Amino acid sequence: MDRTHELLLSLASPPPHRCFLCDRESLVGEDGLCDECRRTLKLAISPAPPEGLDGLTAGLRYCDELGSVFFRFKVMERRDYTPFLAQFISIPEEWRAEILVPVPLHWLRLYRRTYNQSFLLSEYVSSRYGIPICQELLVRTRPTRQQKFAKNRRKGLKGAFRAAPECQGRSIILIDDVVTSGTTLSECARALKKAGAYRVYAACVACSDR
Ligand SMILES: [Zn+2]
Repeated sequence: MDRTHELLLSLASPPPHRCFLCDRESLVGEDGLCDECRRTLKLAISPAPPEGLDGLTAGLRYCDELGSVFFRFKVMERRDYTPFLAQFISIPEEWRAEILVPVPLHWLRLYRRTYNQSFLLSEYVSSRYGIPICQELLVRTRPTRQQKFAKNRRKGLKGAFRAAPECQGRSIILIDDVVTSGTTLSECARALKKAGAYRVYAACVACSDR
């Protein structure tokens, strides 16, 4: 490999010894973490599914360190975080789900952000489990502001999603990065079930204590 090619390659991919969590140069394992950060991360133990969902899995318990990770992934457009975060999403076999649906962004936000982080995560989950993605099944019909209070949030999201009739009789898994109040997932499930979905589950990277 010539020097120019080598240089181009090193610019295209992130440094191999940078920990995804603390973002510091360090010796990292296959999971992308340094030893210290691996001890920091806590696994989420069977979180209760939000209203309207038939099941929920989340690999990690939300913490401040993860907040910075999601900021880099979503706001700083660090797409290279996708495989690192996707490794924490797991799908139980007993769900027997047929379709993955990424939690949709409104097109206006998608336009500003250029990509939907949940779709990127879905691509990895899809190739790992062999479950197809069908993002056309669910659309966000209006943009929603970040709401501080759960009550306002629920109100703001009411009717914000619309599902396609092809949902009829299907078992669907919603994919998202973080579950906080669970309101978004509940509203997605409500729209999917209204369109005839048989079961709606959600698989996420992290979950905050609710
Ligand atoms: Zn670290």
